[in-house]
Amino acid sequence: MTENHHHQIKQSSSTKRIAVKVDDLTVAYNYKPVLWDIDLEIPEGVLMAIVGPNGAGKSTLIKSILGILKPLAGSIRIYNKPYSKQRALVAYVPQKGSVDWDFPTTALDVVTMGTYGSLGWIKRPRQRHKKAALEALEKVGMLPFKNRQISQLSGGQQQRIFLARALVQNASIYFMDEPFQGVDATTEIAIINILKELRKANKTVIVVHHDLQTVPEYFDWVTFLNVKKIATGPVKDIFNDDNLTKTYGINYKVSVQE
Ligand code: ADP
Repeated sequence: MTENHHHQIKQSSSTKRIAVKVDDLTVAYNYKPVLWDIDLEIPEGVLMAIVGPNGAGKSTLIKSILGILKPLAGSIRIYNKPYSKQRALVAYVPQKGSVDWDFPTTALDVVTMGTYGSLGWIKRPRQRHKKAALEALEKVGMLPFKNRQISQLSGGQQQRIFLARALVQNASIYFMDEPFQGVDATTEIAIINILKELRKANKTVIVVHHDLQTVPEYFDWVTFLNVKKIATGPVKDIFNDDNLTKTYGINYKVSVQE
């Protein structure tokens, strides 16, 4: 019995795997540091908001983790390996408007490209890739637009297409840079439902988020950022006026509905 008991305690106290680990990260543009000595551990399976004022370095943090920007110092691990070895595990939905869609391609093409992953550009998509793409379009409510040129969709619709593309990638970790920016209420609900579904599947979802009011409703984990990391952890423990004030620099109060 003692042994059994011991085993149970061991199991229940076993910590979650760390999906993303950032150590001593410092990033600068033109020698001006915009992220300063960031340490961050993101456990597997959380739905995490990154919050902080404009210019806090939220996008820079994501781009550094994804190897798009080269840091001055520090290391990034994705499931304990460098990002370059873990690309297939990671999906990224960039900020709306950050992609210029000059070339003619349909919504379905964009999503189907997401399924390529290891296939590369040369091979033609197979039937199952197309089927997965159509299912994802259905999920984000964009099936009726599958043959529309991506450039002829609204910003919010393009955002949904990107989300569908991230879904077919079947990644373990999702990074999204302000997915709710400028989308209507219906799209916002559709997106948050998909994010919650991803969490249920034990995916790790990391979202740059601006609407502080919805943090407790949408997310279970939060990182406060303003050049430095102010705090990171469960929303229920650390989403409070103290951390908001430290991050936003004014006496900040958010009325949280209990
Ligand atoms: P956030 O996403 O929190 O609004 P960013 O990560 O976009 O912040 O930007 C952090 C800081 O870095 C800001 O001061 C911004 O002006 C600066 N910055 C961002 N991109 C560049 C760039 N390409 N060149 C120079 N400075 C930049």
